[in-house]
Amino acid sequence: MEPFIRVYPPKRPQGKRHVWYVMRGEDLVVDVNAPAEPLVGDPHGPQSITIAQHFPLGTQGDVAVHAAVVAADCELSEGLQAVNLRTLMNHPGVAPDVVAAASNAKQLVEFRTLHRFCTRCGKPYRAIENNWGYRCDPCAFEIFPPVSPAIIVLIHDGLDRVLLTTKTGWGNRYSLVAGFVEPGESFEACVAREVREEVGVEVHQIRYVGSQNWPFPHQVMVGFLAKYKSGDIQIDAEELADGRWFNRDAMPATPPSTAISGQILDIWLRREITQGMIAGFDYHE
Ligand SMILES: [Zn+2]
Repeated sequence: MEPFIRVYPPKRPQGKRHVWYVMRGEDLVVDVNAPAEPLVGDPHGPQSITIAQHFPLGTQGDVAVHAAVVAADCELSEGLQAVNLRTLMNHPGVAPDVVAAASNAKQLVEFRTLHRFCTRCGKPYRAIENNWGYRCDPCAFEIFPPVSPAIIVLIHDGLDRVLLTTKTGWGNRYSLVAGFVEPGESFEACVAREVREEVGVEVHQIRYVGSQNWPFPHQVMVGFLAKYKSGDIQIDAEELADGRWFNRDAMPATPPSTAISGQILDIWLRREITQGMIAGFDYHE
């Protein structure tokens, strides 16, 4: 597959064909007959809906990829529907490029909609050329679309057990420990701290296995495996409903492989804890 090349405003993507990621609120507008694909259009917009604002995303081979916004209360004509990005990400067979472009569109639209006046002095921003940032000329403050790193980690014992947690409302499903990176912290320090805070144990041999964009609202989930070192389980009762060890032949319900948590579990279930990497949804050659 051709690589996706980003384009930054005020440039517009060029191509023989044009596709449009149209956001209505937090949802993507799609054709009911192609619910996991962007709308088809021409250089000025999609054929099936009138857009309010244009965002250049990039090119992929001879395809120009655009994003656009319609009003949150915009009525959709017959043949169109709005899908939530979570639904899109779990759609069977959705292409990783479509998830990446839709996530990019959602985050750019949100940034440019939410940030209009300077955080420091209150004057209107102007767009900086050739990237997505805004600048306040009176006070020289600049702001760029945020990306917030969060770690997600599978705690294993080096043998046949993993320490999983569940939250109220998850039913019988268990998952991995996760949390936001704090200011001044490395990913590895964040893994050790989150594990200590949420389940009360110490880990070592912290190993990176891959990452996933998670646009709710603007995280990148950074995945790790970590080996149990010491301590008894003591869960953070404000965050978790339970945390316990599971043997590989008696696993609970766990997240699907479309989520990074499911993919990290797959690495462990395949006994690839020293070499395995997640694959498929972030980067592929
Ligand atoms: Zn300012």
